[in-house]
Amino acid sequence: MDFHYKDGQLYAEDVKVKEIVKEVGTPVYIYSKAHFVEQFNKFDKAFKREHTISFAVKANSNLAVINVFAKLGAGADIVSKGELFRALKAGVDAKKIVFSGVAKRDDEIEYAIENDIMMINVESEDELEAVNRVAQKLSKKARISLRVNPDVDPKTHPYISTGLKKNKFGVPHNEAFDLYLKAKELPNIEIYGIQFHIGSQLLDTKPIYDASLKIAELMRALSDKGIEFKVVDVGGGVGIVYNEEEDKEPSIDDYAKQVEEAFKDFNIKLVFEPGRFLVGNGGILVSEVIYHKTNGDKKFLIVDAGMNDLLRPSLYNAYHKIAPVEKQNREEIVCDIVGPICETGDFFGRDYKIEDVPNGEYIAVFSAGAYGFTMASNYNSRPRPAEVLVDGDSFRVVRERETLEDLIKGETI
Ligand SMILES: *Cc1c(COP(=O)(O)O)cnc(C)c1O
Repeated sequence: MDFHYKDGQLYAEDVKVKEIVKEVGTPVYIYSKAHFVEQFNKFDKAFKREHTISFAVKANSNLAVINVFAKLGAGADIVSKGELFRALKAGVDAKKIVFSGVAKRDDEIEYAIENDIMMINVESEDELEAVNRVAQKLSKKARISLRVNPDVDPKTHPYISTGLKKNKFGVPHNEAFDLYLKAKELPNIEIYGIQFHIGSQLLDTKPIYDASLKIAELMRALSDKGIEFKVVDVGGGVGIVYNEEEDKEPSIDDYAKQVEEAFKDFNIKLVFEPGRFLVGNGGILVSEVIYHKTNGDKKFLIVDAGMNDLLRPSLYNAYHKIAPVEKQNREEIVCDIVGPICETGDFFGRDYKIEDVPNGEYIAVFSAGAYGFTMASNYNSRPRPAEVLVDGDSFRVVRERETLEDLIKGETI
């Protein structure tokens, strides 16, 4: 299944990666549909209670990928008008779409209300007023939840921790109570849910349980004031294994048990917003080795993909497994695997031990299915890579490689 070696050759499901590269070129993102389906089912089956899985589109927003999940019954967690546009285009049921983000503009709120999405996850008092105002203009009632910041430490990278007091996300736990009371009085607001999302790449789901208990307590207090909820949105954040030697995959069954136990007293539907868990290990980035180079004692493997294609190592110092597309028992070298971008931070691996790959051959950067292409840019005027979706023994390009003309689209002298 998904990515594996057979006789030294890397396969994506039943397709040789080298065959895809020969046809599509490099750099290229390759996704495994089977992996996406498997991860979705693993998540889905763990829960006994009624629930909706709203795929966090920011992790991988290719239409074909969103569509795989939409067909399995998933909704979408979106953070912009653009992502809502994509989710609808990809066939997601609007009733399963939740809208997160701290800086929603009026036009984005309007677009969400007009499309009648499940709910807007409101992150501040100003935003609550904006939603009420926009809904009033449209003569509608907007379904909302408040994103509550429960102030629990998710024990993850500081850049992807979101549920601490010092983070910009959500409404502080102690202020959420009053804000719900205010929301109740606003004529064009319908209180629909309560939401939290404490961070990403959580390998231990206990902090989500701790947050759930805090949210449940808040819900009890609000219930005494006559405020009840239709849904509890537990956010996303469940982590994946990047480094087989260090990371331990969280147990989805334990996670499900913890969450269901925390909200057992409430007659609500659960909503989840997983991103990375569904797609992270379902994608690789394949790149050609262009040159070998030695500066003093330091060896470099220079490849044709860069931080503009996959930003995570540069942005978070994130670890990605890297291996040859064809293993041929060549000697191992210790090197920095770097790209063409004019930045010292442009690397995929540092002091990385890898079987040497000759110039003109290919490497695969694993676990690139989440926050890979979606963070890609045109920095250094490099066209963004193609994306390919593999399904069994066939594959298709689901996003063409950008052209030079694409680079200057809309520009004038
Ligand atoms: C990024 C994000 C997610 C998805 O996080 P993952 O770690 O990829 O599961 C879900 N909800 C919100 C509000 C987010 O910002």
